[in-house]
Amino acid sequence: MSPDPGLAHRVTAVREAVQAAAREAGRDPAELTTVVVTKFQPVSLVRELAELGMRDVGESRHQEAREKAAELADLSLSWHFVGQLQGKKARQVQRYARVLHSVDRESLLDALALPAGAEAEPGRPETDVFLQVNLTDDPARGGVAPAALESLAERAEAAPGLRLVGVMAVAPREGEPRQAFATLRGLSERVQRIAPDATAISAGMSGDFREAILEGATHLRIGTAITGIRPDPR
Ligand SMILES: *Cc1c(COP(=O)(O)O)cnc(C)c1O
Repeated sequence: MSPDPGLAHRVTAVREAVQAAAREAGRDPAELTTVVVTKFQPVSLVRELAELGMRDVGESRHQEAREKAAELADLSLSWHFVGQLQGKKARQVQRYARVLHSVDRESLLDALALPAGAEAEPGRPETDVFLQVNLTDDPARGGVAPAALESLAERAEAAPGLRLVGVMAVAPREGEPRQAFATLRGLSERVQRIAPDATAISAGMSGDFREAILEGATHLRIGTAITGIRPDPR
């Protein structure tokens, strides 16, 4: 099946916009990873995206993500989990997702880490972990409060089997996204004092990836600007 021309156009348009924002920021576009968020989209669309060279795929629901990863096991895709994570599902998510963007509490780190003294499974890489920060006043939004981020980072840095790669946030619905991403950049600097290698910043969605790139984002999570309208959740 040849890819839908609309999809190919959107992939190209987003690539060009990402490169333009990188140039505007004086950054090398090669520092940026675009994760295409395919939640609620059919497996066939993920396959078309892979043909178009989009191999970092983001999902936000475990059940759906697991099924898609299994159906697409013939492709070499990198699965990123970007949704709220339930403690009891955490280890199952690790089986297919190499990167978790939404770790926001100590109990999750404990569930994800190898038990103390356990050997890493041969051939099984560490799981890359972003700490999600809540930049809103609403505790239901997911993410650790900024004031608790550094202690969570200490715990993550010490967790066997996990590699703390950086911080993640969603810009609040109200207010200037650029301001929110500037705050996130400051929080990233604080985390890097604890974990010098945790330099990645997961920020920027369809409507605000330019602002995120201007404030140092390294991992963009882009859904509808690439995929088109998202179907309703099943
Ligand atoms: C759905 C989702 C995205 C992508 O959103 P778009 O507005 O479609 O680009 C990014 N990050 C997270 C955490 C999401 O749940």
